[in-house]
Amino acid sequence: MVGSLACVRIDLHTHSRVSDGTDSPAELVAAAAASGLDVVALTDHDTTAGWPEAIAAGAEHGVAVVPGIEISTDYHGTSVHLLGYLLDPTLPELNVELDRILAGRSARVPTMIARLQALGIEITAEDVYARSTEAAATGRPHIADALVALGVVGHRDEAFDRYLAWGRPAYVDRYAAPLETMVELIARAGGVSVIAHPWGRSSRREPSAARIAALTELGLAGIEVDHQDHDDAARAQLRAIARDLDLVATGSSDYHGTGKTGHALGVNTTAPSELRRLLERAAAASAASGRPTPSVTLPPGVVLP
Ligand SMILES: [Zn+2]
Ligand SMILES: [Zn+2]
Repeated sequence: MVGSLACVRIDLHTHSRVSDGTDSPAELVAAAAASGLDVVALTDHDTTAGWPEAIAAGAEHGVAVVPGIEISTDYHGTSVHLLGYLLDPTLPELNVELDRILAGRSARVPTMIARLQALGIEITAEDVYARSTEAAATGRPHIADALVALGVVGHRDEAFDRYLAWGRPAYVDRYAAPLETMVELIARAGGVSVIAHPWGRSSRREPSAARIAALTELGLAGIEVDHQDHDDAARAQLRAIARDLDLVATGSSDYHGTGKTGHALGVNTTAPSELRRLLERAAAASAASGRPTPSVTLPPGVVLP
């Protein structure tokens, strides 16, 4: 659907089967078109492998696809998800880090399966890998899906709450890249970085405003304000931080297909003026780094204020 200026609908955070969603990239873009989105970003975990299929589907369905990624990082012992947009995916140093993260994700799976077996759960490696045939790495969501298929739990969230989350009996730690390193690498790849759901799940309000300010110095471009993990108070505070630091404030669904309830496409959206600022910063990052970055073709008639 082509919106007039007032109703351009933009969702900047979604996952396909290339990570832990349940739609193929093309199915995801078709679903975005069907739900009235004009612009959708594909941000699979730690991989850009779904981009070509999503971009081709965007051309077919009249939806602008913003190529992105969500990277698992570590910030002083806290897990922080970092969204990167419009980066050159061929930057070698970036790929070294992404390969290390994906390898760490896959490497812990056998240990986690062994721990589940030790708890008396009859789960095999085949049960898990059957769930991740199209994914860049096998991880906890696929173990969760196997537990659902085996009837051990009712849904993914229950699998995490009972077995797979940090502190639960089958949890195994893994590598996450330092947040500061990834902010710098995304900038060197000519892209822009946005902290995903900065205050999601924990109510500790971390990273704090001061730490977000420090990351802005390193080149952070924005923070995801409107996300299902943020209540109204968190959204208001994060919006104020974005305004004070001149950061782009985004909003998005964090859609995972049927893998995550309450995250329907377009449930939160990004203001067109904020997308315009994000694209301007990506163009500036590309010029500064000398890296060619992917372009975004807006549907006919869609103009960003
Ligand atoms: Zn995330
Ligand atoms: Zn996500």
